Formats: sequence, structure tokens, C-alpha cells
Amino acid sequence: MINQTKTIATEQVVSPISSSKLNKKSLCDYVLNVASGCLHGCTFCYVPSTPVIRMRGKALQEKGVSDPQLDWGDYLFVRDEVPEQLEARLARNPKWKETASGKGVVMLCSGTDPYQNGQTAKVTRACVQVLLNHGKRVRILTRSPLWTKDLDILVHPNVTVGMSLPHLDDNISRQVEPGAPLPSDRLKALEMGKFAGCRLYVAMAPTAPVHGVEDFQRYFDAVLPLNPEVIFWEPINARGSNGKRMIDAGIDWVSQVTTQKQWADNFYSQYNQIIQVLQERSAIHLLHPWFDPALPTIGGVDINSWFYRPTIEQWGE
Ligand code: SF4
Repeated sequence: MINQTKTIATEQVVSPISSSKLNKKSLCDYVLNVASGCLHGCTFCYVPSTPVIRMRGKALQEKGVSDPQLDWGDYLFVRDEVPEQLEARLARNPKWKETASGKGVVMLCSGTDPYQNGQTAKVTRACVQVLLNHGKRVRILTRSPLWTKDLDILVHPNVTVGMSLPHLDDNISRQVEPGAPLPSDRLKALEMGKFAGCRLYVAMAPTAPVHGVEDFQRYFDAVLPLNPEVIFWEPINARGSNGKRMIDAGIDWVSQVTTQKQWADNFYSQYNQIIQVLQERSAIHLLHPWFDPALPTIGGVDINSWFYRPTIEQWGE
């Protein structure tokens, strides 16, 4: 069934779960995407420029999406058969990969948001139940507070829930994450999760170049009391087609980070500020930066040591 303003329908996939290279960013060994497309429509999102979308241009056009990259945020194809497929896959083939940095974890999701609406939340919940029944570790990553409706299953030693919370600035969020719930609502969701006893983490990504020390102080003063097990961080990267989308959306500060030098300078500037703020709060051990291999080495920072470095999160046996 097609929605009037957005293209919302279902789709089938051959395989419900994929082996992932996101262990380089210490996130997982497997990814499970409950949909393709994402109604949050973040202007900085890298997904529409990846092969996952680029290679499916014709197929998506046949489903009513005229330009899968430019129309990012306006279409969603929910994979509602994935939970059954996942159950069959895990029952048929229990072989499992577990790297040091991926820890055998399954992440929902890498190419869409698992809790962007009721439909995806329903599929996500069913997938989490299947994974837990098979003793798998689960990492949720979302911009939506909808996960708090699933606390009955998410409060579990084999589940960690992360919110993408780049900053606490609702105005900037409306510019760059037009379809996502506000950061202030995401913070409230994390507070609910902490109260319920849920394992939590945050992805402080991507920070905007307009944010500085005072913003980081305010951010950590709000987030650290929630006891996140790890804080992933990276600044905005506007050098690809997502940079063009941000400029087209009228986001003027993007021009501060469009050249390689501007981007690298901002990266290290924010990195040093964040280190300073976390050190003042005795919380530097929580920081897990996502360095980019394209960054030059400045100030003796060993960026290579951060690739494939296990997070400090503890998972039970
Ligand atoms: S929520 Fe995630 S997947 Fe969805 S548009 Fe934003 S960055 Fe992309």
C-alpha cells in the first residue's frame, strides 16, 4: 500500500542478516536492516550514497521512487518477513563470526533507523526476540525514543541501546535531521532507559562545526549521569554527496567544513575540545572516536590505533 506523500511499502530480501565490516568502528560483526530508506531523512546521511542504495536505483524507481538519492527521507520499504527469515537462518546455520572488536554483536540498523515508526518498531522487536532466543548480542542504534516501548525485552544483558545524539541543539537538529525526533526527546528516552536499568551508549555523531567547548560541556553534563557504557564520536563529514544535500537544504555552516583541510582542522579541533571536557569530568575512558582513514596525522594522535579497537563495553559469556 502506497502512502500519499511518502512512498511507504514493504519489500522482501533474500538474506535477513549480513556479515559486517563495522567491527572496524567497533560496533558489531553483523548488521540487520529492518527496512530500506529512512523517513528521518538526515541531510548528512551517508546511506543514500552507498552501493546499498546506488546499486538499486532501477529497482527503487520501479517501486515509485524517482531519485533514490535526492529523495532520501521520502521513502521506506519495510522488510516485515525478516523475523521469520532470521529464525530460519539461525536454526539452519548456527555458525557465528566473532571478532575482537565486533564481539559477535548484531547491530540494528546500519542503513535505516530501526525505530522510525510503528512498522519498523514491530519488525525490530520481533528480530530482537529471535536474536535473544538464540543467545545473540544485540546493539540498537536509533534517533527515535520509540524503543522505550520495548523496554520489557531491551533491558537484557545481551542488549545495548544507543541513541544517535550528536548534540542537544533542537534548532540545528531541525536543519539537518528534519524527520527525526528532537535531541531533547532522545535525551528523555535515555533517562527512561537508565531508570529501567537498560544498558546504554550514545553516538555523538555527527557534531556540527558550530559547536564548541560550552556545547560539549552542556552535552556531557546531561549525558554522563545516564551512565553510557561508551560514547562514540565523529564530526560531520560534508565532503561527499551528503555535503551537496546539506548545501541544497540551505545549511550555511556546511561551508566551514567542505575542503579536506577545513574538515581535518575541525576534526582535530573538536577532538581536542572533547578530550579536555571529558578529562575535566574524569570520563575520558568512555570516549571512542571514529577516526577517518583519510585524516592526516596531526599532533601525534595515533588514529590507526582506534581502528578495530574493542570498546570498553562488557558483554557476558
Ligand atoms: S536516522 Fe540514520 S539511517 Fe536514517 S537518515 Fe538519519 S542517519 Fe540516515
